[in-house]
Amino acid sequence: MSFSVLQRELDERKAAGLLRTRRTLETPQSPHIVVDGESYLAFCSNDYLGLAEHPQLTVALQQGAQQWGVGAGAAHLVSGHFAPHHQLEIQLAEFVSKPAALLFSTGYMANLGVVQALVGKDDTVFADKLNHSSLNDAMLLSRAQVKRYRHGDMAQLATQLAQTTSGRKLIITDTVFSMDGDIAPLREMLALCERHDAWMLVDDAHGFGVLGEQGRGSLSHFKLDSPRIIYMATLGKAAGVSGAFVAAEQVVIDTLVNHARSYVYTTASPPALSVALAESLRLIAEGEDRRAHLIKLIAQLRDGLTGLPWSLMPSDTAIQPLLIGENQQALQLSLSLRERGIWVAAIRPPTVPQGTARLRITLSAAHTQADVQRLIEALHELAQ
Ligand SMILES: *Cc1c(COP(=O)(O)O)cnc(C)c1O
Repeated sequence: MSFSVLQRELDERKAAGLLRTRRTLETPQSPHIVVDGESYLAFCSNDYLGLAEHPQLTVALQQGAQQWGVGAGAAHLVSGHFAPHHQLEIQLAEFVSKPAALLFSTGYMANLGVVQALVGKDDTVFADKLNHSSLNDAMLLSRAQVKRYRHGDMAQLATQLAQTTSGRKLIITDTVFSMDGDIAPLREMLALCERHDAWMLVDDAHGFGVLGEQGRGSLSHFKLDSPRIIYMATLGKAAGVSGAFVAAEQVVIDTLVNHARSYVYTTASPPALSVALAESLRLIAEGEDRRAHLIKLIAQLRDGLTGLPWSLMPSDTAIQPLLIGENQQALQLSLSLRERGIWVAAIRPPTVPQGTARLRITLSAAHTQADVQRLIEALHELAQ
């Protein structure tokens, strides 16, 4: 069998403006990067606090490697669970006010593991239509019944919950929606959980470190505390390193240790990463200045981008998507910015719904007001 069938699929994708390719960074993650030999002002990382190249984290990682070596060498349940992992789990649980926490190698794996461990074919998962792909994949892999509700539509979710009369019920949602930047109505969702005896998994990939008191995340932001909430956050975005964790009741964590396949059947992350992450947690907790600066930049951008032919989607977070609509136009705008030395990613279907291609502008505390002003001016020029 020839591979020409694959080439044809790729060619079709390209013709539709949907072919994805990678660019190679030649400098560390920061607002000022060199990509394929060219310098750019970038607005597309999820390094919201600017910690990815923080010198204290670099030193912590070096010291971690010095003390613990580079590889864990085994899965957590065999001989790969190290003191730094254990210590970090205790600190993370405390930070988000949950009884216990469990580290995963990535957020994608955490979501797969949690959903698959908690529900099965006799159960039902309720999911926002704009959830992150890892949550979508997780619910399919779990073999549970799936009910998807319109984005943020609590009335539809309530109806779906009421119609479900048997099995476990698990609501899964992004807290800050990764391609939209808006925040799920977690308080209303928790009320629905209580009324219908359901659990909820909240994916705080874009809230942890940014929202809430001391960056404790979305539960702190909404002042929510319930054993029904299973909290998940990633450690490669605002935390600037890599990995993810789930925080919940001890019985939930024990269940994950026993049943989450993406936890059990994989090598533990290097313990040195946990040493760096413990330092990152300190920087997050002490990061009020970074968060205040980020909030100022968000206001500056929203203010500066009024009067364009394209509008910013409603968002108060560091994710500020500029809705373009058509794929090729979004791609063209992204290319025109790039010619001006500014890098903003065009996000197209299937990552977002058809007809809603957008420039996903993300801000970081590492940006300056002058950086944001440069983007504002470039977009106004391109709108001419
Ligand atoms: C990035 C992201 C993930 C995946 O986390 P990784 O650690 O990158 O695998 C999961 N959920 C959401 C909402 C995300 O944005």
